[in-house]
Amino acid sequence: MWRASILTLYPDMFPGPLGTSLSGDALARGTWSLETHNIREHGLGRHRAVDDTPAGGGPGMVIRADVLASAIDAALPAGDERPRLLMSPRGRPLTQARVRALAAGPGVAIVCGRFEGVDERVIGARGLEEVSIGDYVLSGGEIASLVLLDACVRLLPGVMGKEASGSEESFEGGLLEYPHYTRPREWEGLAIPETLLSGDHARIARWRADEARRLTAERRPDLLKGD
Ligand code: SAM
Repeated sequence: MWRASILTLYPDMFPGPLGTSLSGDALARGTWSLETHNIREHGLGRHRAVDDTPAGGGPGMVIRADVLASAIDAALPAGDERPRLLMSPRGRPLTQARVRALAAGPGVAIVCGRFEGVDERVIGARGLEEVSIGDYVLSGGEIASLVLLDACVRLLPGVMGKEASGSEESFEGGLLEYPHYTRPREWEGLAIPETLLSGDHARIARWRADEARRLTAERRPDLLKGD
């Protein structure tokens, strides 16, 4: 079973949307498991404080290293070989290749940041790898971790139908996916490209490969350069 452990201040946000549809069915079937750990339980004092003001001044609050480390140590026993990820806009951007690698492993442990983020020292001391889901700032790591989990879970064996193996999707093979069409054959005066109706599988495959390259060059030339 592929195991996900989430350290968060908002455990109620899980499984959230992952409790429905394909991922929800797979969760119910036991293809993957999800456990949440509330960082607040390791907070200090009567108010269970988890954060403090930034050293050096400035706005916002920072999650304390001692609090987060104690939450991590309680949730993740030594010998747990799953990658320890910290969702962070400063992290390495998540890619489909990384998602595939994570899905092929034993699972993930994910720390969700809040406020201005977490004390830098705990990142190194607990071997957290920072992962970003894009160049924008969310208010917390929970939605980012749901994105990462969704991308991984759909690749687990048996989660997608056998028709949708994922092997022809965007980013597989370094290209965006070709366009899709379905019935009706003509809609608002727009026809399905004739090639797709030809029944000639080699021609269809060529058309799709050409379209994938054209779309990638137009929208994501960085992918073609291998950036
Ligand atoms: N002060 C931080 C910065 O400028 O890099 C932003 C902190 S953000 C308001 C709070 C938390 O949301 C982060 O610690 C992280 O866990 C999560 N987060 C925000 N944007 C993210 C992104 N693009 N990818 C992954 N996690 C993100």
